[in-house]
Amino acid sequence: MKNKTSSRRKFITSSSLALSASFVSLASCSDKKSESKINSPNINFNKNYKWKMVTTWPPNFPVLGEGCNILSKWINKMSGGRLEIKVYGGGELIPSLECFDAVSSGAIEMGSGASYYWAGKVPACQFFSSVPFGMNPLQMNAWLISGGGNDLYKELYDPFDLIPFPGGNTSMQMGGWFNKEINSIQDLKGLKMRIPGFGGKVLSKVGGSAVTVAGGEIYTNLERGVIDATEWIGPYHDYLMGFYQVAKYYYYPGWHEPGGVLEMIVNKKKFYNLPSDLQEIIIHGIEAMNTWMLCECDSKNSIYLNKLVKEKGVILKQFPEEVIKELKRKTNEVIDELVSNDEKSKKVFQHYKKFRESIEEWSAVSDKMYYTL
Ligand code: CA
Repeated sequence: MKNKTSSRRKFITSSSLALSASFVSLASCSDKKSESKINSPNINFNKNYKWKMVTTWPPNFPVLGEGCNILSKWINKMSGGRLEIKVYGGGELIPSLECFDAVSSGAIEMGSGASYYWAGKVPACQFFSSVPFGMNPLQMNAWLISGGGNDLYKELYDPFDLIPFPGGNTSMQMGGWFNKEINSIQDLKGLKMRIPGFGGKVLSKVGGSAVTVAGGEIYTNLERGVIDATEWIGPYHDYLMGFYQVAKYYYYPGWHEPGGVLEMIVNKKKFYNLPSDLQEIIIHGIEAMNTWMLCECDSKNSIYLNKLVKEKGVILKQFPEEVIKELKRKTNEVIDELVSNDEKSKKVFQHYKKFRESIEEWSAVSDKMYYTL
């Protein structure tokens, strides 16, 4: 037995060494390749590029807009000043929601937003942001970055001459601000709530009224009773909006947006016109920004949730199980309607669902289990 174990250990060790050796040789191969590319004639170190990035966020918007500004600085430094990207807040150059068309046409090179903003044009894109009761940020990153989700994402945007990237994450959102307690599904009937997209459709199915209110008007509408409730993002952004001054209860979880994946789109032709080193700088710059935004949101949310409860006296409440169950049932109806009417949504959702089922088995014995200890 001892011999068997030690021979197995020996095998694993030698295999690992062999594996490491092959990684080393792979790494040196790729180094050689990139070296040859760097010396390739398509790179002219004296040629500079000036790009524009439009965003759907107000100028310098905390985390989301800040992340775009940081990305632009990183790219400038990494490229030794050869690629300058000027970032514009929503409305500064074009209206926020024209971002997709402007980058698609090539009038602008890059754009930052969230894929569900384009649901009217490409319904299937909603699965790449956040769907009610869908995957959390960790699972979404796993699906998009390593689980094949990104290939589908690219395929979906290809007809629009766009390359999409996971471009940040708001982290798990909150359920929203209410002025009355939600004790049963009846309490959602007739409730006028600012809740966009997919979540809004689900609220309508349980008898609520989903209204669209521009970010800057939510506070006043809630204060004046034009709306009864609102969702926004998470504790940090909600604190900055001052909602604690006009609503008493702060509900969780954010069933409707369990981790809002943000999006960076790049015009395909403009991207491939760049030398290969600048293309890599863009790809890995966006990857770093994707991580930075999620970490920044989680870190700030933990501080600001505490402030809201301890300093501002906000009452934190959990949606009752019965309410969550019903919302989940209605979410499935909304998804069924979407996938039965749109082939592309069906294809993306099948992949999403399969990955989710698989990762949930892993999550059950890893993160989920760990949180209960
Ligand atoms: Ca939201």
